[in-house]
Amino acid sequence: MKTYFLSIIILLLAACQNNTKPAEKVAIQDVHSYANPQEAVVKHLDLDIHVNFEEKILEGWANISISHAEDAKHIILDTKHLSILKVEISDGEGKKSQAHFTLGKEDAILGTPLNVDILPSTQKVHIQYATSSEADALQWLSPAQTAGKQHPVLLTQSQAINARTWVPIQDGPGIRFTYSAKVSVPKELIALMSAENPTTKNAEGIYNFRMSQPIPAYLLALAVGDYQFLPISGRVGVYAEPIMLEKCANELAETEKMVVLAESMYGKYAWERYDVIVLPPSFPFGGMENPRLTFATPTIIVGDKSLVSLIAHELAHSWSGNLVTNATWDDFWLNEGFTVYVEMRIMEALKGHNYSEMLTTLSRQELDLALSDLKETPDDTHLKLNLKGRNPDDGVTDIAYVKGYYFLRLLEETVGRDKWDPFLKAYFTENAFKSMTTELFLERLNTLLSAEQAQKVNINEWVYGAGLPQNCPIPNSPYFGKVESALSVYFTDEKNVIITEKWSTHEWLHFLRSLPTNIDASKMARLDADFHFTQSQNPEIQCVWYELSLRYKYTAAYNAVDVFLNSVGRRKFLLPLYKEMMKTPEGTAMAKRIYAKARAGYHPISYQSVDDILSGKE
Ligand SMILES: [Zn+2]
Repeated sequence: MKTYFLSIIILLLAACQNNTKPAEKVAIQDVHSYANPQEAVVKHLDLDIHVNFEEKILEGWANISISHAEDAKHIILDTKHLSILKVEISDGEGKKSQAHFTLGKEDAILGTPLNVDILPSTQKVHIQYATSSEADALQWLSPAQTAGKQHPVLLTQSQAINARTWVPIQDGPGIRFTYSAKVSVPKELIALMSAENPTTKNAEGIYNFRMSQPIPAYLLALAVGDYQFLPISGRVGVYAEPIMLEKCANELAETEKMVVLAESMYGKYAWERYDVIVLPPSFPFGGMENPRLTFATPTIIVGDKSLVSLIAHELAHSWSGNLVTNATWDDFWLNEGFTVYVEMRIMEALKGHNYSEMLTTLSRQELDLALSDLKETPDDTHLKLNLKGRNPDDGVTDIAYVKGYYFLRLLEETVGRDKWDPFLKAYFTENAFKSMTTELFLERLNTLLSAEQAQKVNINEWVYGAGLPQNCPIPNSPYFGKVESALSVYFTDEKNVIITEKWSTHEWLHFLRSLPTNIDASKMARLDADFHFTQSQNPEIQCVWYELSLRYKYTAAYNAVDVFLNSVGRRKFLLPLYKEMMKTPEGTAMAKRIYAKARAGYHPISYQSVDDILSGKE
C-alpha cells in the first residue's frame, strides 16, 4: 500500500475542471500528498469548527463535497496528528450513512492517509475531528505574546504541507477547491480567514466565511484574536490589534496604489478585496500570501514605509502563486521567483528604478550567501528541485526566490519589455486558477524566445543546473554608489563625518553589509556612537548590526541581542544570529542561555529551525 500511496499520479486538475482538451492533461506527481484525485477529488470544503483556547485544539466537522470517477471506491485525504472521531458519507439527497474508513501508516513528514470508502452515489464526506498539540500549522499565543497583552491569539500557517494538521483535506498545491466555514471563538475575539471577512466583532463569537475562488489547501488560513479593522481604500484595509491599528494603516497607506500598478501590468486583481492582517512578532515569516488576507509580520511597521516591499511581494502572489500555482513543491520557484519579479516591478513603478535596484542588489547579496550555504548540496541550487522524501520547507531558500527572479530578469532583458510584459500578462490570464509545472512554463517560454535568444539565455543551465550562471544580470543602484563613497570617507579618518539624513533602511543595510572586514570592537563602538545602531527599532538594521556585534565581540550590544531574540520570532532574523553565536564556545553558551527563555515564544516553524542550529544539525 505504501508504495502505491507514494507514487500516485495526479492529473492537472485545472485541465479536467475546465473541460479543456484531454491532450492538455499532464500527468504530474505530487510526492508530498497521499491524495488520489484521479479517482476522487475535493471540490468544496465546508468547515464547522470551534476554537478551543483552553485545550489549544480545533474541534468540529469538515464536510467535503467531492467529485469522483464512476467506479471510484475510495477517496484519500491527507491528515497529520488529527484525531478522526467519526466519518459519514451522504448522497445527493443529503442522506447520511456511517462510512468505513482506515488510517494508514504514519510518515514523519507526510502524516497519515485517511482512506474513506465511497459509493457511486456519494457526494459528500463528513469528518468529525480534533487537532492535537502537535499541529504544526497552529500557533497559540498567550496574551503576553501580543501587543495589547490582554487576549490570546491563534494563527495558522498551512504552507507548505501543514493544512493537513488542522483540516483533513487533499493537501497538494495541484488540487483546488472553494470553501465555506463557520468558526466559533471566545466572544471577546474575532475570527478572520483567507475568505470574505467580517470587519467587526459580533456578540455570539460565531463567524461565517465564504471563499468562492478555488484555492489549494496551503492557502487555507485562520487568525483569531483581538483585531480591529481600518479601511485604506474601497477594497484595501488592515486588521491589527487596536493598539497598533493606526500605525499599521499609516505604514500601509500605499497599498491601494500598489494594487492599481500591479493590475495595470498583469491584469485584473482576481480576489475582490485585498486586506492585510498585522500579526504578533512571533509570526515566523515576513508575510504569507493568504488570499484576500495577507498575513504580515509587524517587523515591517517601522514608521517610514521603507519596508513595504514585503506587501508588494504578498500582493504579487495574487497573480503568481495564488492564481497560477506551482503544481508541486519541486516547482516552488514558479511561485516565488515570479513573485519576487512582480514585487520588483511594483516597487519600480511605485518608487522608481534606482529605488528598486537597491532591493535587487540587497537580494543579490542574500543569494550569494545562500549559494555559499548550499555549496555542499548543489542539487538544492537548481530552480527545479527534487524534494522527494524531504519536507518541502527545505525548498524555501533564496534559490527559488532570488535565482528565480534573476532568471526572469534575464528573460526580460533578452526579449525586451515590449515583448516580455504582454507574455507575462497572458501567462497569468490564461492560466488563472490553474497549476503550472516548470516544464509547462518552459514550453510556453519557447514560443517567446528565438532559437538564438534561447541559446544565449541557456535555460537548462538556469533551471536544471547548479549555482548561478555567468550571464546573471548585474543590478546597479546609484544610491548604493553614494553609500560606498560615504563608507570609504568615513573610515579614512576618525574625524570624518558623513551625511546620512536621507538614507532609507536599504542604504543602511548596504552600509553595514559593506563594512571593511578588518573591523574590531573599537570601530564598532565608533559606528554605534555615531549612528546608534544598538538602539535601532528597525529589525532589518538590528539583525545585521547584532550579527556584526557578535562577530566582532562588540559586547555593548549583547544585551540588545538578548532582548531582540526574545521579542521577534521571524525566522529570517533568528537564524543568522543563532548561527553566528554558535561559531564560538562563548557564543554557544550565550545562544543556549537566550534560547532557553525565548523558545516558548517562537512558532514551531521557527523553533524547529533554531533547534537544528543549536543541536549542530545545521
Ligand atoms: Zn512569497
